[in-house]
Amino acid sequence: MTTGTLSYPNQHLKNYLNRFFMSVKLRQYLVKTLSAIGGINYRWKKLPAGIYAFNYHRIGKAKDSIFDRAIFSCSTAAFEQHLQEIKANFIVINTFQLTELLAQGEKLNERYALITFDDGYIDNYTAALPLLKQYQLTAVFYLVTDFINSKTIPWWDEIAYLLRQAGGKYYQFCQTNNIYFLDPKNIDQVIQKIMTDIKRSSHYKIEQVVDDLRQKFPQASAKLQQEKQALFMNWQQAKELQLSGMEIGSHTISHQILSQLTAQEQAVEIIKSKQLLEEKLDCSLNSIAYPVGRYYCYNQTSLHYAKKAGYKIGFNNEPGYHQHVDDYFNLNRYCVSHDNFNYLKFDCCFT
Ligand SMILES: [Zn+2]
Repeated sequence: MTTGTLSYPNQHLKNYLNRFFMSVKLRQYLVKTLSAIGGINYRWKKLPAGIYAFNYHRIGKAKDSIFDRAIFSCSTAAFEQHLQEIKANFIVINTFQLTELLAQGEKLNERYALITFDDGYIDNYTAALPLLKQYQLTAVFYLVTDFINSKTIPWWDEIAYLLRQAGGKYYQFCQTNNIYFLDPKNIDQVIQKIMTDIKRSSHYKIEQVVDDLRQKFPQASAKLQQEKQALFMNWQQAKELQLSGMEIGSHTISHQILSQLTAQEQAVEIIKSKQLLEEKLDCSLNSIAYPVGRYYCYNQTSLHYAKKAGYKIGFNNEPGYHQHVDDYFNLNRYCVSHDNFNYLKFDCCFT
């Protein structure tokens, strides 16, 4: 965390960004080198039998977005290539099939993949669904009930928008000494740094941070109200996904970070979202994906209510595959964040 006067956070941020770029550069170098000598492909083909889940958010051009660009997983063209790779190397299943498979209690002897989407952005319907249909693949779409049929701008998109609009200014995080320079040259990286700190904060709820930003950047906030647009699917589109053979899962009611909520609040988010989706879409839900899904974003209380609600599968967003599954409510997923599929292969093979 950054502290002190304006000069300190600048230096800290600079050090952080240097480390960030170094790690990204090192990864890029390794991916490039291993791709060139065929190392990634070799390992990829030899991955063991098990459960592999690949999680997407938005599909499309990140650079065109006025909101959170880091939420884009890949372009539409890249998504098609990913599907070809996945189809050629895995048996693609949904969570109902996964539950059946695990209930048999036998050793997994194939490589199974689940393709999942979090949040229910409209591009999941317009860009991803046609390709999934074309390649006859199924996917699981985790929807946030408050977002469906609404003009909600979720907190990460609003935070990114406000910070980008306020480029060139400083942001002091709530009542803390953490100060960030919103450098227009590196604004996407600065936004991601702030976003990570917000998600990890145990002192402030997301809503408090959003309120704080609205107060500190009132002009940007007013502009956002004029630019509001429907970012998410409506109920009809969600129903169409389901009728096209896709599975619908819960991503809670309001996408708050579960570990920052009381037990009662978690119960409502987890149980009511299932009831609402089942009622509105006339279907039975089998699985939930915890919002944000990093290990610090959910806890034992979340798992308790997921079981109590009647889900059979719970996904996080921690990278890793399962050669056998010990905990059905703590399944890992690889987060797709690059057009080049070799990055995903690298993650599967080496992390
Ligand atoms: Zn999400």
